[in-house]
Amino acid sequence: MRCKNCNWSWDNEKGDTNPYLCHKCGYDSYLDKFDMDSLKKWEEDNNYPFKEYVEEGYHVRTFSKDIDDMKLIWHRDKEDRLVESVDETDWMIQIDNEIPKVLSEKIFIPKGVFHRVIKGTDDVTVKVKKLNSKINPLP
Ligand SMILES: [Zn+2]
Ligand SMILES: [Zn+2]
Repeated sequence: MRCKNCNWSWDNEKGDTNPYLCHKCGYDSYLDKFDMDSLKKWEEDNNYPFKEYVEEGYHVRTFSKDIDDMKLIWHRDKEDRLVESVDETDWMIQIDNEIPKVLSEKIFIPKGVFHRVIKGTDDVTVKVKKLNSKINPLP
């Protein structure tokens, strides 16, 4: 694909809901107009501060130690989840109104409760088990 507006080109990806949407400028070459709402949605869906794959019902996520702290913001999730680090780590999770807990133990995060990730010294890989939810890739 090539954007009619800015000439940015990209490969079509399987499962892309907006294959004609330019992820640089937001121009949709099929609709022949800018589609900033879809661009914003795409950025939100693809701007997570980790890499992820799904294995046996777990979302396995790797966070880099070089991550910008600004990306580890307080947020809420849509379902209960259990999070635990695959290896020894000093990364932590802090749940609203609680002291931070090291990720080497299993941490339960109830849905709708604010929490944040606190960066440690090395990269970390965590397994996230979403409870009471069907597997969907993100978030
Ligand atoms: Zn473009
Ligand atoms: Zn979360």
